[in-house]
Amino acid sequence: MVRVSVVCCLKLLLLLALGGVTMHVPDAGVLAPLGPLRLDGHLSFHDVAAAARDFGNRCSLMPAAVLHPGSVADVAAAVRRVFQLGERSPLTVAARGHGHSLLGQSQTAGGIVVRMESLGGGAMMRVHAGADAPAYVDAPGGALWINVLHETLKHGLAPKSWTDYLHLTVGGTLSNAGVSGQAFRQGPQVSNVNQLEIVTGRGDVVTCSPDENSDLFYGALGGLGQFGIITRARIALQPAPKMVRWIRVLYSDFASFTEDQEALISADETFDYIEGFVIINRTGILNNWRTSFKPQDPVQASHFQSDGKVLYCLEMTKNFDPEEADIMEQEVGVLLSRLRYIQSTLFHTDVTYLEFLDRVHSSELKLRAQGLWEVPHPWLNLLIPRSTIHRFATEVFGNILKDSNNGPILLYPVNRSKWDNRTSVVIPEEEIFYLVGFLSSAPSASGHGSVDHAVSLNDKILDFCDKAGVGMKQYLAPYTTQQQWKAHFGARWETFERRKHMYDPLAILAPGQRIFAKASLPMSS
Ligand code: FAD
Repeated sequence: MVRVSVVCCLKLLLLLALGGVTMHVPDAGVLAPLGPLRLDGHLSFHDVAAAARDFGNRCSLMPAAVLHPGSVADVAAAVRRVFQLGERSPLTVAARGHGHSLLGQSQTAGGIVVRMESLGGGAMMRVHAGADAPAYVDAPGGALWINVLHETLKHGLAPKSWTDYLHLTVGGTLSNAGVSGQAFRQGPQVSNVNQLEIVTGRGDVVTCSPDENSDLFYGALGGLGQFGIITRARIALQPAPKMVRWIRVLYSDFASFTEDQEALISADETFDYIEGFVIINRTGILNNWRTSFKPQDPVQASHFQSDGKVLYCLEMTKNFDPEEADIMEQEVGVLLSRLRYIQSTLFHTDVTYLEFLDRVHSSELKLRAQGLWEVPHPWLNLLIPRSTIHRFATEVFGNILKDSNNGPILLYPVNRSKWDNRTSVVIPEEEIFYLVGFLSSAPSASGHGSVDHAVSLNDKILDFCDKAGVGMKQYLAPYTTQQQWKAHFGARWETFERRKHMYDPLAILAPGQRIFAKASLPMSS
């Protein structure tokens, strides 16, 4: 648990340092302009505590102030001023998307948090749907993906690649990768961006794309916020499907499950979305894997017993137009006939495209109502090469984990050829690798539902990966030392470091990733 509180003098230091920002402080009202820096938005101090929290709920770094930018120029002005203060100033700048990081990655101790959502409104989105060129949307870096979807749906269009949850920001997921069940076909979100506008660590506003300033473009994609703040992204669009057939089936045999997943992601004719999850229930009582789904055969389904086995749920969707539902039924029938799931466990439901994409939000609302959303989330996300996934599964689902009641365990394959190796994202070397996400919640202070319990299981899994030479890479990695980051990047560290020196030479940006530290500051831990 990392807890850092700011000393008041840092606030004073910030005032002196910025020396002239128009500031709003709730109890003092609007302060008089103090100097040459003019903002369209404002700096505030009343919401520093909120900016010191994130979804992970395990780390709290108190910033000195929060910038609510009114324009891209505000972001540039603030970063430029901090850059001009030089390396001896302790000030850093953390872009905050929706604060859905797991361990303080969008926080800064004593620095400035830039609330990117202030620049995320729908009015700032531009959809281009000309007949002459592929459609795209120019979206602010602080836009939530759900709002990008609402905006593009007005034109009958939608982005191609998603995350499972849409209340995340464009800049936040593009700084990681953005992976979901569409990635096997479309690539991750970082493979579906045509252009970025970035405020670098020097405060310059740079437009970049594969053809223009391409080093910065590729560096920023998956760049963990290290090279600049993404203020706009040009995202590729496609015609939006109307409806989705959403299917779940169960396997008790891991080999059949993964072979079917791999066959599906490698086929030309296949589903539009392919994921999977693991259900460990040694008690034999199944959890709610199929709530709100209809059984294909209700009689058979009612007889299904899990017998306490570990089960693997394959989840797929097929997009369709209601007027052509019979064609979809036929295609789905053919695809399902090739799979080896337990026949009595075929369930499906038909929902709108929007309902499907926004599915996790419905769970969020339920969890919030029970006070179970704002609890610690000691998540562990691993990318495991195909060649070691069986060994991994045998040990982790057979020995280390006794149940999956602490949260979902995702497991699905993606293909490396859909990822652009010029970006900063680090993935295993093999063509097929698996995303395995242990999405634990820790609502209790002690015992089975505690952070300590989840972390000890995570540590056992990591320890096994290390000793067994699984060759995994962490996604959303929470490393705390540069040594760990060097090992993570491997041969790509040199490029990552070179880009840092080029675009953020004073290490001002995204200090919460704990990759580089400003000369005047120790590496945070
Ligand atoms: P933040 O957490 O606020 O920021 C993340 C990092 O990016 C920080 O270092 C921050 O400084 C930096 N940053 C933020 N905005 C910018 C910007 N505009 N420019 C440059 N740097 C910036 N990820 C997936 O890939 N697939 C999933 O299916 C998926 N599902 C998720 C479901 C849930 C419920 C949650 C909580 C997270 C999920 N994620 C998933 C992880 C998600 O990608 C990360 O949480 C990510 O951090 C995005 O969250 P955010 O937009 O709130 O960004």
